[in-house]
Amino acid sequence: MRIVLVGPPGAGKGTQAERLAERLDVPHISTGDLFRANLSQQTPLGVEAKRYMDAGDLVPDSVTVEMVRTRLADDDALKGFLLDGFPRTISQAESLGGLLADRGEELDAVVELQVPEDELVGRLLARGRSDDTEDVIRRRQQVYRDETAPLLAFYREKLVSIDAVGSVEQITDRVTDVLRAR
Ligand code: AMP
Repeated sequence: MRIVLVGPPGAGKGTQAERLAERLDVPHISTGDLFRANLSQQTPLGVEAKRYMDAGDLVPDSVTVEMVRTRLADDDALKGFLLDGFPRTISQAESLGGLLADRGEELDAVVELQVPEDELVGRLLARGRSDDTEDVIRRRQQVYRDETAPLLAFYREKLVSIDAVGSVEQITDRVTDVLRAR
């Protein structure tokens, strides 16, 4: 299965992505995790990404797409993947489409985790990551509304929207039930 997981910051994407990838037996590919791993190893890519991450802005598409292209070329991604946090712009989605088309592949589904806006900030402040200060959180939400939310229309035909309020287990079950029924 080739799945993209979308949702605003604080929707529980990371948690659900890990659980879903395990259930579906595909690698969990998180661009945020890849950037953080690069940063902790002080690679040029990580150093470049840091200033955007610290501000809650998107790392430029060219850098991000190249990183994903490299990761998708790994053997484990041949059987499928669950992308978490990518694509985040229409341009990234178009690049992903091209990349998959070159392999004779396409996405099976785009899963949107839906959470009411007033729940999101509280969830993020509780998480306490270094880029989870209130200003940066607001900026990431703005960026989601402006840059990422348009993907929901772009992927209209593949979109599966899931009510992501509930226990972690319930939400994983909802997603897997819907994916199985398709
Ligand atoms: P995340 O772990 O998904 O919340 O991502 C943390 C940060 O990494 C984001 O605020 C962005 O700065 C950067 N990032 C992650 N994924 C992308 C992407 N697809 N495009 C651009 N920047 C990204």
